Amino acid sequence: MKQIAVIGSGTMGNGIAHVFAQYGYAVNLVDISEDALKKALATIGKNLERQVAKQLITEDAKNKALSNITTFTDLKAGVATADLIVEAATENVDLKLKIFNDLDTHSKPESILASNTSSISITKIAAATKRPDKVIGMHFMNPVPVMKLVEVIRGYNTSDSVTQTIMNLSKMLEKVPVEVNDYPGFVANRILMPMINEAIYTLYEGVAGVTEIDTVMKLGMAHPMGPLQLADFIGLDVCLSILHVLHDGFGNPKYAPCPLLVNMVQAGHKGVKTGNGFYTYTAGSKELVVADRFR
Ligand code: NAD
Repeated sequence: MKQIAVIGSGTMGNGIAHVFAQYGYAVNLVDISEDALKKALATIGKNLERQVAKQLITEDAKNKALSNITTFTDLKAGVATADLIVEAATENVDLKLKIFNDLDTHSKPESILASNTSSISITKIAAATKRPDKVIGMHFMNPVPVMKLVEVIRGYNTSDSVTQTIMNLSKMLEKVPVEVNDYPGFVANRILMPMINEAIYTLYEGVAGVTEIDTVMKLGMAHPMGPLQLADFIGLDVCLSILHVLHDGFGNPKYAPCPLLVNMVQAGHKGVKTGNGFYTYTAGSKELVVADRFR
């Protein structure tokens, strides 16, 4: 593995490109938006600078990492010589099926195609290609340069050797890969989202307020952040769509999204990204301005 292509340069794509470039891989970062690519390079530069300030890497390593990244708006040119392609484009099933179909056409037949999807079936994505044995989930966590976990998701047809390659590669990036099978929500979101949904039900039924619920989980369960604030950080629309995937995928009413969550998303209250969710935030930042808007 020498050359990596990353498709999508948003929150996750820029983090994935950062980590591969930091560990010496040549990275082609591809996005349909020139503006997103510019922002991604600025973010990567800022995050590498922070690592230099914390003495985690040298100034020289920062410059080398930056010089390992080339940006593209043309997918065909960006993936032609890549050994591994990690897709981190917008979470939309039709978009991902189209991208994987294009990747299959334009990349080397032996290259591995990975998706960073949070919830879409890897088996379904793989079926859009003629190489389902070489399609796999490589689910990084946000923020990618900091979080150690990579959930490695085997689709129905993913081969043992491709799985092993991605497990080993994740270790080369000093991450901790965990192999899981392809069922709705994989492991991370199958456990996290019902917890968040239950926290919202607890609020909806008036058992306790926002800060009380989050305090119980932070101080009682040693969670670094309460489930309601975490939901605001993830995005309430994202939480709702993952709950729909679990509900549809298993047909089990226990995954039905809380009506309060549905209402909040319909009202445009999506958490940090819109400045309001269970808490209120300064526009464009994660800074809390009101502790609990439900009081
Ligand atoms: P984002 O909205 O920040 O970025 C998506 C990027 O994809 C945008 O820059 C957009 O221009 C680009 N894009 C859209 N269509 C494209 C195309 N056809 N070709 C190339 N680029 C295209 O999204 P994100 O939060 O980075 O999420 C990306 C993926 O990572 C999703 O599948 C999401 O489920 C997953 N994920 C997100 C998180 C998270 O915390 N944000 C965590 C884990 C996994």
